[in-house]
Amino acid sequence: MPERTCIGCRRRLSAGDLVRIAWSASDGCILIGAGHPGRGAWLCPTAKCVDAANKRRAFGRALRADVSHEAIEAFLSDGLGWSIRPQESGGR
Ligand SMILES: [Zn+2]
Repeated sequence: MPERTCIGCRRRLSAGDLVRIAWSASDGCILIGAGHPGRGAWLCPTAKCVDAANKRRAFGRALRADVSHEAIEAFLSDGLGWSIRPQESGGR
């Protein structure tokens, strides 16, 4: 399994543990899944990493696209429901 770097936490992980995202210029939205053409980026399926990537403006940089604020908002609300599993909370 190849390794990819999460754009949220910047860790290198097996591609199987990450979700691939791509930018659709025609639709103006972020697409989730391996089948989309174009430049992709990889992200841990956790809300923490999506949030980190958003705060670091990593979406636009990683996808080399003018990713709109609206698209990221939509991804945060829609994408989370699709794949993001809650971060395992190590016992406090
Ligand atoms: Zn991550």
